[in-house]
Amino acid sequence: MNWNTILIRYGEMSLKGKNKSKFIRKLKANIKAALSDLGTVTMRAERDRMFIYTEKPEELDRAIEILPSIFGIQSFSPIVICAPTLEDIKETSLKVLGKTETAGKTFKVDVKRADKRFPLNTGELQQELGGHVLRVFPDLIVQMKKPEILLYVEIQHEAAYISSHTYKGAGGMPVGSNGHSLLLLSGGIDSPVAGYMMMKRGVSFDAIHFASPPFTSDLAIEKVEDIVRQLTKFGAVIRLHVIPFTELQQTIVKQVPSNLSMTTTRRMMMKVAEQVRKDTNSLGLITGDSLGQVASQTLESITAINEVTNTPILRPLIAMDKLEIIQIAEKIGTYDISIRPYDDCCTVFTPPSNKTKPQVEKVAYYESFQEFDDMVAEVASQRVTTIPSKQTKEDFEDLL
Ligand code: ATP
Ligand code: MG
Repeated sequence: MNWNTILIRYGEMSLKGKNKSKFIRKLKANIKAALSDLGTVTMRAERDRMFIYTEKPEELDRAIEILPSIFGIQSFSPIVICAPTLEDIKETSLKVLGKTETAGKTFKVDVKRADKRFPLNTGELQQELGGHVLRVFPDLIVQMKKPEILLYVEIQHEAAYISSHTYKGAGGMPVGSNGHSLLLLSGGIDSPVAGYMMMKRGVSFDAIHFASPPFTSDLAIEKVEDIVRQLTKFGAVIRLHVIPFTELQQTIVKQVPSNLSMTTTRRMMMKVAEQVRKDTNSLGLITGDSLGQVASQTLESITAINEVTNTPILRPLIAMDKLEIIQIAEKIGTYDISIRPYDDCCTVFTPPSNKTKPQVEKVAYYESFQEFDDMVAEVASQRVTTIPSKQTKEDFEDLL
């Protein structure tokens, strides 16, 4: 019995036409990149499913560990392929079940008969197989709803597929199938979660981080690099652009009254991000704003900040509670990195009080005394770009 194949079922079944072929192409590329350490893995994609063939059983086990974090997969099952005859199906089913612990477990047979020429119909085959299995494994308990072991048998014209376990996939859409954006990544708890949520919707991104040395330390940058590495595990290489922000921030503090300086800081960040967005062919900007969480995240503040750009700003956390965000951060492994105690540029320069309802005209008035646009262009061009994960750009050629 050759236990080396995984059957992958896609998510987002409503996709049609061109979108669907792009979805499949991206998913295939992402899986290939994610499994690139495994040795020889071959793949075959069809309209509604994909097959992965490994050479060794250890590789199959490793693939089972990696696949649940890849977006665009609804579910997957390791399968054994046999001839589409009753004899072979019976024999292979017993072998497949022989690999799992059956004592006292609940059980059901699920048959999908794609080849209608098969001599038994679905119900008959279900009965026949169920009886056969129970004679050999009498300690299995038949249960129709949520059985612990689901013997899945699919009969196609050229072969039958048999599996005893279906794993849940991450859902969503393959990263890169829905365009490329730029994530404003602070090192706090929220922005990594915002990036993850957009990846789930198929968006790949570059990340931009504003650093203000010597007020912010190298450890703050290391932290952001670690977050980028962690996010890379969900399916895409991420380039990181670090912006030297000290001088611009000091100028803001000098030029703008303290209760408006946070608003101006955010507006300048947006302007710099806008420049980097254009240079990286990104379509949107992503932030970790959550409505009302802090002074800079009221609707009035958001309006004042948005005013500097026409680019769509994606804020996937806008309606989420902090607790929900923390739960996701824990699940995706960024929380422990985010709570490392290194200040980012905003914490260092935070004034004692911020206006929760900044007026755009006032902010623009104070900004008009300085050639901020020149400074924005300068810091954008001074960015330091790296790829913190070990993958290289070539591994993900399709995405960038
Ligand atoms: P986070 O937890 O993501 O730091 P926050 O709750 O601290 O968010 P703010 O400090 O108001 O909220 O930042 C709002 C958003 O602005 C962040 O989610 C991030 O997208 C962006 N941002 C803030 N500081 C930086 C920075 N130093 N570099 C890049 N982006 C930043
Ligand atoms: Mg923050």
